[in-house]
Amino acid sequence: MVTDPLSLPASDLAAALRAREVSVLHLAEAALQRVTDVDERVHAFLSVTGGMAREQAEDVDRRLGLGQSLPPAAGIPIAVKDVLAVRGVTATCGSKILESYVPPYDSTAWSRLRAAGAVLVGKTNCDEFAMGSSGENSAYGVTRNPWDLDRVPGGSSSGSAAAVAAGMATWGLGTDTGGSVRQPAALCGVVGLKPTYGLISRYGLIAFASSLDHVGTFTRTTRDAALLLSTLAGVDPKDATSVDQPPADYTQGLDAGVAGMRIGVVKESFAEGVEPGVTDAFRSSIERLMRLGATCEEVSLPNTDYAFSAYYLLAPAECSSNLARYDGVRYGHRTHEPVDDVVELMMKTRGEGFGDEVKRRIILGTYSLSAGYYDAYYGQAQKVRTLVIRDYQRAFERFDVVLSPTSPTTAFRIGERTDDPIKMYLSDIFTIPADLAGVPSISIPCGLDDDGLPVGLQFTGPLLGERQILQAAHAFEQDLGFQLAPPLLAGLAS
Ligand code: GLN
Repeated sequence: MVTDPLSLPASDLAAALRAREVSVLHLAEAALQRVTDVDERVHAFLSVTGGMAREQAEDVDRRLGLGQSLPPAAGIPIAVKDVLAVRGVTATCGSKILESYVPPYDSTAWSRLRAAGAVLVGKTNCDEFAMGSSGENSAYGVTRNPWDLDRVPGGSSSGSAAAVAAGMATWGLGTDTGGSVRQPAALCGVVGLKPTYGLISRYGLIAFASSLDHVGTFTRTTRDAALLLSTLAGVDPKDATSVDQPPADYTQGLDAGVAGMRIGVVKESFAEGVEPGVTDAFRSSIERLMRLGATCEEVSLPNTDYAFSAYYLLAPAECSSNLARYDGVRYGHRTHEPVDDVVELMMKTRGEGFGDEVKRRIILGTYSLSAGYYDAYYGQAQKVRTLVIRDYQRAFERFDVVLSPTSPTTAFRIGERTDDPIKMYLSDIFTIPADLAGVPSISIPCGLDDDGLPVGLQFTGPLLGERQILQAAHAFEQDLGFQLAPPLLAGLAS
Protein backbone atom coordinates (compact mmCIF):
# COMPACT_ATOMS: atom_id res chain seq x y z
CA MET A 1 0.00 0.00 0.00
CA VAL A 2 1.31 3.45 -0.87
CA THR A 3 0.74 5.93 1.95
CA ASP A 4 2.14 9.14 0.47
CA PRO A 5 2.36 8.87 -3.32
CA LEU A 6 3.33 12.55 -3.62
CA SER A 7 6.60 11.85 -1.86
CA LEU A 8 7.64 9.23 -4.41
CA PRO A 9 9.59 9.70 -7.62
CA ALA A 10 7.93 8.51 -10.82
CA SER A 11 10.30 5.54 -10.99
CA ASP A 12 8.66 4.17 -7.81
CA LEU A 13 5.17 5.31 -8.72
CA ALA A 14 5.35 3.44 -12.03
CA ALA A 15 5.50 0.08 -10.25
CA ALA A 16 2.77 1.02 -7.75
CA LEU A 17 0.47 2.24 -10.53
CA ARG A 18 1.00 -0.90 -12.57
CA ALA A 19 0.48 -3.17 -9.57
CA ARG A 20 -2.76 -1.19 -9.02
CA GLU A 21 -1.65 -0.38 -5.45
CA VAL A 22 -2.64 3.17 -6.19
CA SER A 23 -4.83 4.40 -9.03
CA VAL A 24 -3.83 7.19 -11.37
CA LEU A 25 -7.01 9.01 -10.39
CA HIS A 26 -6.11 8.77 -6.70
CA LEU A 27 -2.66 10.16 -7.47
CA ALA A 28 -4.12 13.01 -9.52
CA GLU A 29 -6.63 13.82 -6.78
CA ALA A 30 -3.82 13.80 -4.21
CA ALA A 31 -1.81 16.29 -6.30
CA LEU A 32 -4.87 18.52 -6.78
CA GLN A 33 -5.60 18.33 -3.03
CA ARG A 34 -2.00 19.33 -2.29
CA VAL A 35 -2.49 22.35 -4.55
CA THR A 36 -5.59 23.25 -2.54
CA ASP A 37 -3.69 22.78 0.72
CA VAL A 38 -0.54 24.76 0.00
CA ASP A 39 -0.76 26.82 -3.17
CA GLU A 40 -2.49 29.77 -1.59
CA ARG A 41 0.81 30.24 0.24
CA VAL A 42 3.25 29.13 -2.47
CA HIS A 43 1.47 30.46 -5.59
CA ALA A 44 3.18 28.07 -7.98
CA PHE A 45 0.21 27.75 -10.34
CA LEU A 46 -1.39 30.29 -12.66
CA SER A 47 -4.04 27.80 -13.76
CA VAL A 48 -5.04 24.41 -12.43
CA THR A 49 -6.35 21.94 -14.97
CA GLY A 50 -8.35 19.62 -12.71
CA GLY A 51 -10.85 18.60 -15.39
CA MET A 52 -8.16 17.66 -17.89
CA ALA A 53 -6.19 15.90 -15.17
CA ARG A 54 -9.11 13.72 -14.08
CA GLU A 55 -10.05 12.85 -17.64
CA GLN A 56 -6.51 11.81 -18.50
CA ALA A 57 -6.15 9.91 -15.19
CA GLU A 58 -9.34 7.92 -15.81
CA ASP A 59 -8.19 7.07 -19.31
CA VAL A 60 -4.80 5.86 -18.08
CA ASP A 61 -6.47 3.85 -15.29
CA ARG A 62 -8.70 2.23 -17.86
CA ARG A 63 -5.76 1.31 -20.08
CA LEU A 64 -3.72 -0.04 -17.17
CA GLY A 65 -6.79 -2.02 -16.10
CA LEU A 66 -6.85 -3.61 -19.55
CA GLY A 67 -3.27 -4.70 -18.97
CA GLN A 68 -1.83 -2.39 -21.62
CA SER A 69 1.87 -1.70 -21.35
CA LEU A 70 2.27 2.06 -21.05
CA PRO A 71 5.36 4.31 -21.02
CA PRO A 72 6.94 5.36 -17.68
CA ALA A 73 5.28 8.80 -17.89
CA ALA A 74 1.79 7.28 -17.79
CA GLY A 75 -0.20 8.65 -14.89
CA ILE A 76 2.54 10.96 -13.60
CA PRO A 77 1.28 14.38 -12.41
CA ILE A 78 3.15 17.21 -14.09
CA ALA A 79 3.34 21.00 -13.82
CA VAL A 80 4.14 22.95 -16.99
CA LYS A 81 5.68 26.42 -17.13
CA ASP A 82 3.31 28.96 -18.62
CA VAL A 83 5.58 29.64 -21.60
CA LEU A 84 4.83 26.22 -23.12
CA ALA A 85 1.71 25.83 -25.21
CA VAL A 86 -0.99 23.40 -24.11
CA ARG A 87 -3.95 23.46 -26.46
CA GLY A 88 -6.99 25.09 -24.88
CA VAL A 89 -5.21 26.28 -21.71
CA THR A 90 -4.19 29.91 -21.24
CA ALA A 91 -0.48 30.58 -21.75
CA THR A 92 0.36 33.95 -20.22
CA CYS A 93 4.17 33.72 -20.07
CA GLY A 94 3.76 35.57 -16.78
CA SER A 95 2.82 38.67 -18.80
CA LYS A 96 -0.23 40.92 -18.97
CA ILE A 97 0.21 41.11 -22.72
CA LEU A 98 -0.82 37.43 -23.05
CA GLU A 99 -3.37 37.47 -20.24
CA SER A 100 -6.09 35.89 -22.33
CA TYR A 101 -4.05 34.04 -24.92
CA VAL A 102 -5.24 30.46 -25.39
CA PRO A 103 -2.94 28.50 -27.73
CA PRO A 104 -4.77 26.50 -30.39
CA TYR A 105 -1.98 23.91 -30.48
CA ASP A 106 0.29 21.82 -28.23
CA SER A 107 4.00 22.32 -27.76
CA THR A 108 5.92 19.23 -28.81
CA ALA A 109 7.19 18.73 -25.24
CA TRP A 110 3.65 18.61 -23.88
CA SER A 111 2.23 16.60 -26.78
CA ARG A 112 4.83 13.87 -26.18
CA LEU A 113 3.97 13.79 -22.50
CA ARG A 114 0.25 13.76 -23.18
CA ALA A 115 0.67 10.90 -25.63
CA ALA A 116 2.64 9.02 -22.97
CA GLY A 117 -0.22 9.45 -20.49
CA ALA A 118 1.20 12.16 -18.20
CA VAL A 119 -1.40 14.07 -16.18
CA LEU A 120 -1.34 17.88 -16.34
CA VAL A 121 -1.90 19.47 -12.92
CA GLY A 122 -1.67 23.02 -14.29
CA LYS A 123 0.42 25.82 -15.76
CA THR A 124 2.99 27.46 -13.55
CA ASN A 125 4.05 30.96 -12.67
CA CYS A 126 7.27 32.40 -14.06
CA ASP A 127 9.15 35.62 -14.57
CA GLU A 128 7.60 37.54 -17.46
CA PHE A 129 8.72 35.88 -20.72
CA ALA A 130 11.25 33.92 -18.62
CA MET A 131 13.29 37.03 -17.87
CA GLY A 132 14.45 36.82 -14.29
CA SER A 133 16.05 34.76 -11.56
CA SER A 134 13.53 35.01 -8.75
CA GLY A 135 9.97 34.86 -10.04
CA GLU A 136 9.46 38.45 -8.95
CA ASN A 137 9.05 39.67 -12.54
CA SER A 138 5.76 37.83 -13.04
CA ALA A 139 2.77 40.07 -13.68
CA TYR A 140 0.75 37.68 -11.49
CA GLY A 141 2.59 37.99 -8.21
CA VAL A 142 5.51 36.16 -6.65
CA THR A 143 5.95 32.45 -6.11
CA ARG A 144 7.34 31.54 -2.70
CA ASN A 145 9.99 28.98 -1.84
CA PRO A 146 8.47 25.96 -0.03
CA TRP A 147 11.60 25.79 2.18
CA ASP A 148 11.01 29.34 3.46
CA LEU A 149 7.99 31.32 2.35
CA ASP A 150 9.82 34.64 2.78
CA ARG A 151 12.33 33.64 0.15
CA VAL A 152 12.27 33.35 -3.64
CA PRO A 153 12.18 29.94 -5.32
CA GLY A 154 14.61 31.19 -7.99
CA GLY A 155 13.55 31.75 -11.54
CA SER A 156 12.45 32.10 -14.10
CA SER A 157 10.77 28.66 -13.95
CA SER A 158 9.75 29.46 -10.38
CA GLY A 159 6.35 27.75 -10.25
CA SER A 160 7.46 24.44 -11.73
CA ALA A 161 10.38 24.20 -9.29
CA ALA A 162 8.21 25.11 -6.31
CA ALA A 163 5.43 22.74 -7.41
CA VAL A 164 7.80 19.76 -7.51
CA ALA A 165 9.46 20.74 -4.22
CA ALA A 166 6.06 20.96 -2.51
CA GLY A 167 4.76 17.71 -3.99
CA MET A 168 2.03 19.42 -6.01
CA ALA A 169 3.44 17.60 -9.03
CA THR A 170 5.90 14.73 -9.45
CA TRP A 171 7.48 16.29 -12.53
CA GLY A 172 7.78 19.80 -13.89
CA LEU A 173 8.68 21.38 -17.20
CA GLY A 174 10.59 24.63 -17.37
CA THR A 175 12.83 26.50 -19.75
CA ASP A 176 16.48 27.42 -19.37
CA THR A 177 17.90 30.31 -21.39
CA GLY A 178 20.51 31.45 -18.88
CA GLY A 179 19.82 29.12 -15.96
CA SER A 180 16.07 29.21 -15.41
CA VAL A 181 15.74 25.48 -14.78
CA ARG A 182 18.94 24.73 -12.88
CA GLN A 183 18.95 27.82 -10.62
CA PRO A 184 15.38 27.40 -9.29
CA ALA A 185 16.00 23.65 -8.99
CA ALA A 186 19.01 24.46 -6.79
CA LEU A 187 17.10 26.94 -4.65
CA CYS A 188 14.16 24.55 -4.20
CA GLY A 189 16.16 21.38 -3.52
CA VAL A 190 15.07 19.44 -6.61
CA VAL A 191 16.79 18.08 -9.71
CA GLY A 192 16.90 20.39 -12.76
CA LEU A 193 18.14 19.18 -16.13
CA LYS A 194 18.94 21.34 -19.14
CA PRO A 195 19.82 19.02 -22.00
CA THR A 196 21.90 19.75 -25.12
CA TYR A 197 20.47 22.58 -27.23
CA GLY A 198 17.92 21.10 -29.61
CA LEU A 199 17.61 17.71 -27.91
CA ILE A 200 14.09 18.64 -26.78
CA SER A 201 12.05 20.44 -29.41
CA ARG A 202 11.29 24.11 -28.83
CA TYR A 203 8.12 23.97 -30.92
CA GLY A 204 5.37 25.61 -28.91
CA LEU A 205 7.79 27.23 -26.49
CA ILE A 206 6.96 30.93 -26.62
CA ALA A 207 10.33 32.44 -27.51
CA PHE A 208 12.56 34.61 -25.34
CA ALA A 209 16.00 34.19 -26.97
CA SER A 210 15.77 31.45 -29.58
CA SER A 211 19.45 30.53 -29.85
CA LEU A 212 19.61 30.07 -26.07
CA ASP A 213 16.15 28.71 -25.16
CA HIS A 214 16.08 25.11 -23.94
CA VAL A 215 13.19 23.08 -22.54
CA GLY A 216 14.31 21.51 -19.25
CA THR A 217 12.92 19.31 -16.50
CA PHE A 218 12.27 19.30 -12.76
CA THR A 219 12.15 16.02 -10.86
CA ARG A 220 12.83 14.69 -7.37
CA THR A 221 15.59 12.37 -8.55
CA THR A 222 18.15 11.98 -11.32
CA ARG A 223 16.57 8.70 -12.40
CA ASP A 224 13.34 10.57 -12.97
CA ALA A 225 15.23 13.22 -14.96
CA ALA A 226 16.49 10.42 -17.20
CA LEU A 227 12.98 8.95 -17.54
CA LEU A 228 11.45 12.32 -18.39
CA LEU A 229 14.21 13.14 -20.87
CA SER A 230 13.60 9.78 -22.58
CA THR A 231 9.97 10.84 -23.07
CA LEU A 232 10.82 14.28 -24.42
CA ALA A 233 14.01 13.94 -26.46
CA GLY A 234 14.22 13.35 -30.15
CA VAL A 235 14.06 15.08 -33.47
CA ASP A 236 10.96 17.09 -34.33
CA PRO A 237 10.20 18.17 -37.89
CA LYS A 238 8.43 21.23 -36.45
CA ASP A 239 11.67 22.60 -34.95
CA ALA A 240 14.46 23.02 -37.49
CA THR A 241 17.00 23.38 -34.66
CA SER A 242 16.07 20.06 -33.07
CA VAL A 243 18.91 17.55 -33.04
CA ASP A 244 18.60 14.51 -35.25
CA GLN A 245 18.76 11.93 -32.50
CA PRO A 246 16.67 8.76 -32.41
CA PRO A 247 14.57 8.15 -29.29
CA ALA A 248 16.74 6.78 -26.49
CA ASP A 249 16.44 5.34 -23.00
CA TYR A 250 18.52 7.67 -20.83
CA THR A 251 18.18 5.44 -17.77
CA GLN A 252 20.52 2.94 -19.40
CA GLY A 253 23.95 2.99 -17.78
CA LEU A 254 22.68 5.20 -14.97
CA ASP A 255 24.02 2.87 -12.27
CA ALA A 256 27.55 2.66 -13.66
CA GLY A 257 28.92 4.87 -10.87
CA VAL A 258 31.70 7.45 -10.94
CA ALA A 259 34.70 5.21 -10.26
CA GLY A 260 37.35 6.18 -12.79
CA MET A 261 35.37 9.15 -14.02
CA ARG A 262 37.44 12.29 -14.69
CA ILE A 263 35.79 15.30 -13.14
CA GLY A 264 37.03 18.84 -13.76
CA VAL A 265 36.41 21.15 -10.83
CA VAL A 266 35.74 24.59 -12.27
CA LYS A 267 38.28 26.96 -10.77
CA GLU A 268 35.97 29.96 -11.17
CA SER A 269 33.58 28.30 -8.68
CA PHE A 270 35.63 29.82 -5.87
CA ALA A 271 35.20 33.40 -7.11
CA GLU A 272 34.24 36.28 -4.87
CA GLY A 273 30.56 36.56 -4.05
CA VAL A 274 29.94 32.86 -3.52
CA GLU A 275 28.31 32.29 -0.13
CA PRO A 276 30.34 30.30 2.41
CA GLY A 277 27.46 27.83 2.82
CA VAL A 278 27.62 27.12 -0.91
CA THR A 279 31.41 26.78 -0.94
CA ASP A 280 31.32 24.40 2.05
CA ALA A 281 28.73 22.15 0.45
CA PHE A 282 30.67 22.29 -2.83
CA ARG A 283 33.94 21.27 -1.17
CA SER A 284 32.38 18.33 0.63
CA SER A 285 30.73 17.28 -2.65
CA ILE A 286 34.16 17.11 -4.29
CA GLU A 287 35.40 14.95 -1.41
CA ARG A 288 32.38 12.69 -1.73
CA LEU A 289 32.97 12.20 -5.46
CA MET A 290 36.62 11.37 -4.81
CA ARG A 291 35.61 8.89 -2.14
CA LEU A 292 33.34 7.29 -4.74
CA GLY A 293 36.36 6.80 -6.99
CA ALA A 294 36.26 9.77 -9.33
CA THR A 295 39.38 11.79 -10.02
CA CYS A 296 38.80 15.48 -9.39
CA GLU A 297 41.21 18.06 -10.78
CA GLU A 298 40.95 21.77 -11.28
CA VAL A 299 39.99 23.13 -14.69
CA SER A 300 39.57 26.75 -15.71
CA LEU A 301 36.73 28.10 -17.83
CA PRO A 302 38.49 31.45 -18.21
CA ASN A 303 35.69 33.20 -20.09
CA THR A 304 33.07 32.71 -17.37
CA ASP A 305 32.99 36.42 -16.49
CA TYR A 306 32.69 37.47 -20.11
CA ALA A 307 30.03 34.82 -20.70
CA PHE A 308 27.83 36.71 -18.30
CA SER A 309 28.28 40.02 -20.16
CA ALA A 310 27.84 38.36 -23.55
CA TYR A 311 24.62 36.73 -22.39
CA TYR A 312 23.16 40.07 -21.31
CA LEU A 313 23.79 41.42 -24.80
CA LEU A 314 22.68 38.39 -26.80
CA ALA A 315 19.56 37.47 -24.82
CA PRO A 316 18.11 41.01 -24.89
CA ALA A 317 19.04 41.35 -28.60
CA GLU A 318 17.11 38.20 -29.46
CA CYS A 319 14.22 39.11 -27.16
CA SER A 320 13.85 42.54 -28.76
CA SER A 321 13.27 40.79 -32.05
CA ASN A 322 11.10 37.93 -30.71
CA LEU A 323 8.83 40.22 -28.69
CA ALA A 324 8.16 42.54 -31.63
CA ARG A 325 5.18 40.29 -32.45
CA TYR A 326 3.17 41.59 -29.48
CA ASP A 327 1.76 44.59 -31.22
CA GLY A 328 -1.90 44.59 -30.21
CA VAL A 329 -2.88 43.61 -33.73
CA ARG A 330 -2.19 39.94 -34.15
CA TYR A 331 -3.00 38.44 -30.75
CA GLY A 332 -2.78 39.11 -27.06
CA HIS A 333 -3.67 42.30 -25.24
CA ARG A 334 -4.83 45.42 -27.11
CA THR A 335 -5.18 48.77 -25.40
CA HIS A 336 -8.68 50.05 -24.63
CA GLU A 337 -7.45 53.66 -24.75
CA PRO A 338 -8.53 55.79 -27.69
CA VAL A 339 -5.78 55.98 -30.32
CA ASP A 340 -5.28 57.93 -33.55
CA ASP A 341 -3.26 55.47 -35.55
CA VAL A 342 -1.64 52.04 -35.52
CA VAL A 343 1.68 53.31 -34.15
CA GLU A 344 -0.06 54.77 -31.13
CA LEU A 345 -2.03 51.54 -30.77
CA MET A 346 1.19 49.53 -30.62
CA MET A 347 2.90 51.94 -28.26
CA LYS A 348 0.02 52.04 -25.80
CA THR A 349 -0.51 48.28 -25.98
CA ARG A 350 3.15 47.49 -25.35
CA GLY A 351 3.42 50.16 -22.67
CA GLU A 352 0.51 48.62 -20.77
CA GLY A 353 1.24 44.99 -21.52
CA PHE A 354 4.94 44.61 -20.72
CA GLY A 355 6.52 44.91 -17.27
CA ASP A 356 9.66 46.89 -16.43
CA GLU A 357 12.21 44.10 -16.87
CA VAL A 358 10.88 43.15 -20.30
CA LYS A 359 10.95 46.80 -21.37
CA ARG A 360 14.50 47.18 -20.06
CA ARG A 361 15.62 44.22 -22.16
CA ILE A 362 13.81 45.30 -25.32
CA ILE A 363 15.49 48.69 -25.04
CA LEU A 364 18.93 47.15 -24.38
CA GLY A 365 18.51 44.70 -27.23
CA THR A 366 17.28 47.26 -29.73
CA TYR A 367 20.21 49.49 -28.81
CA SER A 368 22.85 46.80 -29.18
CA LEU A 369 21.44 45.75 -32.56
CA SER A 370 21.26 49.26 -33.96
CA ALA A 371 23.54 49.97 -36.94
CA GLY A 372 26.09 52.09 -35.09
CA TYR A 373 26.59 49.66 -32.22
CA TYR A 374 26.14 46.25 -33.80
CA ASP A 375 29.85 45.48 -34.16
CA ALA A 376 30.80 46.96 -30.81
CA TYR A 377 28.23 45.00 -28.82
CA TYR A 378 26.35 42.23 -30.60
CA GLY A 379 29.30 41.25 -32.77
CA GLN A 380 31.68 41.17 -29.82
CA ALA A 381 29.26 39.14 -27.75
CA GLN A 382 29.03 36.54 -30.51
CA LYS A 383 32.82 36.27 -30.49
CA VAL A 384 32.80 35.75 -26.73
CA ARG A 385 30.21 33.03 -27.24
CA THR A 386 32.72 31.22 -29.47
CA LEU A 387 35.39 31.57 -26.78
CA VAL A 388 33.05 30.04 -24.20
CA ILE A 389 32.39 27.10 -26.54
CA ARG A 390 36.16 26.65 -26.88
CA ASP A 391 36.60 26.74 -23.08
CA TYR A 392 34.33 23.72 -22.85
CA GLN A 393 35.92 21.93 -25.82
CA ARG A 394 39.31 22.23 -24.14
CA ALA A 395 37.92 21.09 -20.78
CA PHE A 396 36.26 18.02 -22.29
CA GLU A 397 39.51 16.90 -23.88
CA ARG A 398 40.66 16.14 -20.35
CA PHE A 399 37.45 15.54 -18.41
CA ASP A 400 34.22 13.58 -18.73
CA VAL A 401 32.20 16.19 -16.84
CA VAL A 402 32.90 19.51 -15.14
CA LEU A 403 31.62 20.46 -11.72
CA SER A 404 30.59 23.75 -10.13
CA PRO A 405 27.97 25.07 -7.76
CA THR A 406 24.71 25.86 -9.59
CA SER A 407 24.16 29.23 -7.96
CA PRO A 408 26.50 31.45 -5.93
CA THR A 409 23.85 31.75 -3.21
CA THR A 410 20.99 29.82 -1.70
CA ALA A 411 17.43 31.20 -1.83
CA PHE A 412 17.44 34.92 -1.11
CA ARG A 413 14.71 37.00 0.48
CA ILE A 414 11.80 38.30 -1.56
CA GLY A 415 12.54 41.91 -2.52
CA GLU A 416 16.23 41.67 -1.68
CA ARG A 417 17.52 42.10 -5.24
CA THR A 418 14.65 43.76 -7.07
CA ASP A 419 16.30 47.19 -7.01
CA ASP A 420 19.65 45.94 -8.21
CA PRO A 421 19.37 44.30 -11.64
CA ILE A 422 23.09 43.50 -11.83
CA LYS A 423 23.02 41.63 -8.54
CA MET A 424 19.94 39.76 -9.75
CA TYR A 425 21.66 38.94 -13.06
CA LEU A 426 24.68 37.53 -11.18
CA SER A 427 22.48 34.71 -9.84
CA ASP A 428 23.16 32.98 -13.15
CA ILE A 429 26.91 33.39 -13.36
CA PHE A 430 27.50 29.60 -13.15
CA THR A 431 24.60 28.53 -15.34
CA ILE A 432 24.91 30.93 -18.29
CA PRO A 433 28.04 29.40 -19.92
CA ALA A 434 26.28 26.07 -20.62
CA ASP A 435 23.43 27.90 -22.34
CA LEU A 436 25.82 29.86 -24.55
CA ALA A 437 27.62 26.64 -25.50
CA GLY A 438 24.45 24.52 -25.72
CA VAL A 439 26.02 21.77 -23.59
CA PRO A 440 23.97 19.62 -21.19
CA SER A 441 23.96 20.47 -17.51
CA ILE A 442 22.16 19.20 -14.43
CA SER A 443 21.67 20.63 -10.95
CA ILE A 444 21.08 18.29 -8.02
CA PRO A 445 20.80 19.04 -4.31
CA CYS A 446 24.07 18.54 -2.43
CA GLY A 447 23.07 19.55 1.09
CA LEU A 448 21.67 22.38 3.17
CA ASP A 449 23.32 25.60 4.35
CA ASP A 450 23.20 26.87 7.94
CA ASP A 451 19.76 28.36 7.36
CA GLY A 452 18.43 24.98 6.28
CA LEU A 453 18.24 26.03 2.63
CA PRO A 454 19.19 23.67 -0.21
CA VAL A 455 22.45 24.07 -2.15
CA GLY A 456 22.71 22.95 -5.78
CA LEU A 457 25.59 21.08 -7.41
CA GLN A 458 26.02 21.33 -11.16
CA PHE A 459 27.45 18.68 -13.50
CA THR A 460 28.04 19.83 -17.08
CA GLY A 461 29.01 17.57 -19.98
CA PRO A 462 30.01 17.81 -23.64
CA LEU A 463 27.38 18.15 -26.39
CA LEU A 464 25.05 15.13 -26.22
CA GLY A 465 26.87 13.97 -23.07
CA GLU A 466 23.58 13.59 -21.17
CA ARG A 467 24.45 10.06 -20.10
CA GLN A 468 27.70 11.16 -18.44
CA ILE A 469 26.13 13.90 -16.35
CA LEU A 470 23.15 11.74 -15.40
CA GLN A 471 25.45 8.88 -14.39
CA ALA A 472 27.65 11.14 -12.24
CA ALA A 473 24.70 12.95 -10.67
CA HIS A 474 22.93 9.67 -9.91
CA ALA A 475 25.99 8.18 -8.20
CA PHE A 476 26.38 11.29 -6.07
CA GLU A 477 22.68 11.40 -5.20
CA GLN A 478 22.57 7.72 -4.18
CA ASP A 479 25.48 8.24 -1.82
CA LEU A 480 24.19 11.48 -0.31
CA GLY A 481 20.59 10.42 0.28
CA PHE A 482 19.22 14.00 0.32
CA GLN A 483 15.76 14.37 1.87
CA LEU A 484 13.37 16.64 0.00
CA ALA A 485 11.49 17.84 3.05
CA PRO A 486 10.56 21.51 2.93
CA PRO A 487 9.13 22.57 6.32
CA LEU A 488 5.90 23.68 4.63
CA LEU A 489 4.96 20.03 4.21
CA ALA A 490 5.40 18.99 7.84
CA GLY A 491 2.28 17.14 8.89
CA LEU A 492 0.84 16.93 5.38
CA ALA A 493 0.46 13.57 3.68
CA SER A 494 -1.68 12.55 0.79
N1 GLN B 1 17.99 34.77 -15.14
C1 GLN B 1 18.35 34.80 -16.54
C2 GLN B 1 17.66 35.97 -17.19
O1 GLN B 1 17.08 36.71 -16.50
C3 GLN B 1 17.97 33.51 -17.17
C4 GLN B 1 16.58 33.43 -17.60
C5 GLN B 1 16.25 32.14 -18.25
O2 GLN B 1 17.02 31.20 -18.22
N2 GLN B 1 15.09 32.10 -18.86
O3 GLN B 1 17.72 36.15 -18.36
